[in-house]
This record gives sequence, structure tokens and C-alpha cells, in this order.
Amino acid sequence: MTAETPGKSPNATARSAELFDRALAVTPGGVNSPVRAFRSVGGTPRFMVRGAGAHLWDADGNDYVDLVSSWGPMINGHAHPDVVAAVREAALEGLSFGTPGVGEIDLAAEIIRRVEPVQQVRLVNSGTEATMSAVRLARGFTGRSKIVKFAGCYHGHVDSLLADAGSGVATLGLPTSPGVTGAQAADTLVLPYNDVEAVRAAFAEFGDQIACVITEAAAGNMGAVAPLPGFNAALREITRSAGALLVVDEVMTGFRVSAAGWFGLDGVAGDLYTFGKVMSGGLPAAAFGGRADVMELLAPSGPVYQAGTLAGNPVAVAAGLANLRAADDAVYAALDRNAARLGDLVGAALTEAGVPHQVAFAGNLVSFFFSEQPVTNFQQARGQQAWRFPAFFNAFLERGVYPPPSAFESWFVNAAMDEAAFERIAEAAPHAAAAAAAAQEPAA
Ligand code: PLP
Repeated sequence: MTAETPGKSPNATARSAELFDRALAVTPGGVNSPVRAFRSVGGTPRFMVRGAGAHLWDADGNDYVDLVSSWGPMINGHAHPDVVAAVREAALEGLSFGTPGVGEIDLAAEIIRRVEPVQQVRLVNSGTEATMSAVRLARGFTGRSKIVKFAGCYHGHVDSLLADAGSGVATLGLPTSPGVTGAQAADTLVLPYNDVEAVRAAFAEFGDQIACVITEAAAGNMGAVAPLPGFNAALREITRSAGALLVVDEVMTGFRVSAAGWFGLDGVAGDLYTFGKVMSGGLPAAAFGGRADVMELLAPSGPVYQAGTLAGNPVAVAAGLANLRAADDAVYAALDRNAARLGDLVGAALTEAGVPHQVAFAGNLVSFFFSEQPVTNFQQARGQQAWRFPAFFNAFLERGVYPPPSAFESWFVNAAMDEAAFERIAEAAPHAAAAAAAAQEPAA
């Protein structure tokens, strides 16, 4: 918080620092998901103790306008009363049964109602599980082994989907993490995003071996990079004519960019979909679903095995359902409005400070690339002046605004952002832009 905000101390991080020390002793890197460690932005990761509406509070008592929204789920803001009430009500009835439950049907039906190409749904615990299972199912359905993914698209930490190396046509993926074997990666073709010709060339060479193309409905994990007009439609046409499946990963975009996710914006129908985040209400839940004739191949109706002790957990499905039901048209309008306003405000500050940048949108996902050119793929995203980001980020943080701690992540607005939240951002943005302008490129 700034000196201009009385009663709040700007850089009190003693408690977070103490907690981080404790965490480092018991957890690798002190965190349970790497980006939380602030490695690429420096400084002390903030240990949050409370969230309400558009705000988070850390262990030192600082409050922040939250532009991460738990990496997507909290479209209605933190601790939305309907979601909290649903969780409380469900928890009072018992936490897990390991049997079928009513809420699972309701959540699956809500997803099916919203996303037309989805005829059946299987609930899982994380987006990673959803994509892993969808790929297994695509392989089981087609009897083929190879998969196509795009550089810069993240589908969770599934071994075969961590492959990200190379560029150009049909580059055979190499492991990008120790622990991923050559065999696991060898069946993954990594292609440049938004490059239809690369996809055609890969299919020309390997078409009868490709089980599926998996793509983020709109890329949000290299920053926000929307598919170019016709890209998703081309994937649809190419996969269909080759007898491969199109797996559309809507873990990030699903139920956020519209009531029907990205499908609601471009109408391109995938064969399989993966969901998470918003449909979980902030608890661990995710899903995959799609064509009934494909989904029916899953155990116990079919031979493709997939299971989960806590899948369809009654508290998690209650949270997800309440989150979806709270997201009415007004919420989606607010998300779009807030994303546009955030983009305008921060973009104007960067322009004023003379920082080369692109304000990038994929629906209401926003990011800011420190780049002269529009960004349409991972290579271009990586080419930005990412060294400006730590100073930019920390200037926001010091002024009570919490952006994602990485230059390669989307910023997630929520519908609870009010005038006071935007005033805070407006006050912080010129400082952040000035910090980005003053940042020095590290010597090579
Ligand atoms: N797919 C996409 C598009 C994602 O953005 C993510 C996570 O950010 C995942 C899959 C993995 O989800 P999870 O972190 O729940 O495993």
C-alpha cells in the first residue's frame, strides 16, 4: 500500500517472509505450484489469509485488488455468498461418500446445457486429470498413438503434454522436464500456435497415426493469445477429415469468457472438451466431456479406464454448481467490461510511459506483452521484453494490486471489481508503467 493510503503499511512482508521460510523447509520451493514462488518477479510470495469480493488480504494485513482470481475460478469474486452457502450446506451433510451423488448429475447437466457439443461429462479433480483422461480416451477411441499440441499451450502437467520443444512443421516433441521419458514425448507433435499450414503438414505426414489435436480454445498460458480467425475451424476440418478427434481445452476459458466458454464465442464444436476452474467454484473439481459415442468408451460402459476416489465430491460439485448459477448475464457483461477497462487503463499508462507494449485479449482474458508487434504464437510471446515485467509487477504489488506473477500468464478479472478497485488500479498503473519503462535489460 502507498503512503497515500493512510493506515496501511506499504511493504510489510515480515509475516509472509516468516511463513515462506517455514514453507521452504517442508515443501520444495516453498509452494505447491511453481508460479506462486515469485521466482520470475522476485520478492516475497504473499501468503493470503482471506478473500472477499475483488480483494485478497495477506498475512501481514495488506489488502490487494486481485487480478488473478485464483487463476480463473473466482469469476463472481472471492467468497461469493451463494457459493459459500452451498459449500456450507453440502459440508453439513457429509464430506465424501465414494458413491454416486445428486450434485454430480446437476453439475454435469449444467455443463451439458451450456456447451452444446457436450453430451456426456465425467467429473475429475483437476484440469490435469481432465486433459490426461481426454487424451487417453482419444487414443482409445481412434486406436492411434500420436497427439498434436501447440507450443505455448498448457494442458496441465501430463507427461505427454509437457512436450513443448521445437518449432516448424511436425517437430517431434522432446521432454521439457526431467522425468518425462523420450517415449512419452515421442508421440507428441508440437506445432506453432495459429499456424494452420503446420497442422496440415503434420497431418500430411502422420495423419493416420494422429489420435487427436489438443488445443486451448484460446491460448491463455503464454499470456492471452486468441486464435486467429478460422484457426479453430481449420483444426475442426482437418481433424474430422483425418479421422482424428479435436480436444478443446476450456479449463481456462470455460464458463469465463461466456456462459458457454469459448464455444459460445466461436461456435466451433470439438469432439471432447476439458473444463476446470470456474466450474469448480474454487474447490478441486474439473471435468471432461463431449460426444456420447466417444464418452461411452469410458469404464464402466467401455474399456478405457478412468476413475477417482474423490471425483464428483459433493462439496466441490456444490461449489461449482453455485458458482455457475451465480454467473448470470450481468456477471458475464461485468467480466467483459472489467477486462476492457483494465486493458485500457494499463495500456494507457504504458503508452504514457513510452513502454512498447501490446494489450492482448482472448475474450475477457487480458495480458500485456512488452512487445512492438502483436503476439500470435509462443515464439513471439517469448520474444517480448519480459525483463520489464518484474519491476512492473512489483510496483503494482506495492500499491495493493495483485497481478499474476509472470509475464506469460493471463490476468483474470472478476465481476466483483467496483469503482474503488479500479481507482486503486488507476493509481498504481502509472507507477507500474514507469517502473517498466525504467527497467534495464540484463546483460546477456
Ligand atoms: N488446461 C489449461 C488450459 C489450464 O490453464 C490449466 C491450468 O492452468 C490446466 C489445463 C491444468 O489444470 P490444473 O491446474 O487444475 O491441473
